Amino acid sequence: MHVILNTDCNAWSMNPTPGSPGVCRFCYRERNRVATNAETVTRVLDVIAHESAARRMVFTGGDPLMPYDNHLEVALRHASELGFEINVHTNGLLLRERYGRIREWVDVYSLAIDGPDAATADWFRGDGYFATFTDNIALLESERRTVAFNTFTSSTSINELDRIATMILDVASRTPVEYWLISQYRPIGRADARKAALYGFTPEDFSAAVDSIRERMGQIAVFDQPTRAPADAYPFRVWVLADGTVTVDLGSVAAPRNDVLGNALADGFAPLVRRALSLRSAPYHSGDTQ
Ligand code: SF4
Repeated sequence: MHVILNTDCNAWSMNPTPGSPGVCRFCYRERNRVATNAETVTRVLDVIAHESAARRMVFTGGDPLMPYDNHLEVALRHASELGFEINVHTNGLLLRERYGRIREWVDVYSLAIDGPDAATADWFRGDGYFATFTDNIALLESERRTVAFNTFTSSTSINELDRIATMILDVASRTPVEYWLISQYRPIGRADARKAALYGFTPEDFSAAVDSIRERMGQIAVFDQPTRAPADAYPFRVWVLADGTVTVDLGSVAAPRNDVLGNALADGFAPLVRRALSLRSAPYHSGDTQ
């Protein structure tokens, strides 16, 4: 279950490195569109707990560690008290700053890392990103916290996958590593020729590169997200905004954003997920339920 406290991200303030197309140009960035409060957040988490069999709550965004009160601490504490495993997906830019207030409740820290060195990683996420990543890893290793990795690839960086694997295995020798998610550019409903030229390459090359490192990773689960053709289905994923809005990936590459199904507080969570499942199993889905 993915929970979104805010949709904006502080990576946007990073400076691009010379020769970079810009920071996270592959991201479907948008301004924050979640307006909520602490009481609403806890009610939303309660509804999910009572109306689903979900065991893990993934706090993602945007970035959930923004430099303002997005009710993260309240949400983590409450989700933990409800019995959920908690995974925070973050670029880590403010992890050290907020770590002391969240460490009690977080089970897995998923960090974005797109290269095995500053030259590659900073090209994607901004000047200084790799140094912050290295600092975060040292912090999490020092307390033997469980980590996971999220890697976005381009036609050039896919050749660095083996070196990233070596880096991750090195981390795994000091602290638990749960999984590694490797992704390829996905022009979901926002086809952009310039971005496709920057980041795009064939799904066959992507899959071959992922397959070549999979065995080395041992107990670390490797998940891959290749570019999909319009007819390919996405994995079924439910996203809940902290104001109760429920959205899903229904598999339509043509949809400009996730389908909005309703609000869990007004409509109930289980009925919305049942509706999503029936839409997904329909023979043709247009990607527009709004
Ligand atoms: S760090 Fe993640 S959410 Fe933030 S701009 Fe980059 S890809 Fe988007």
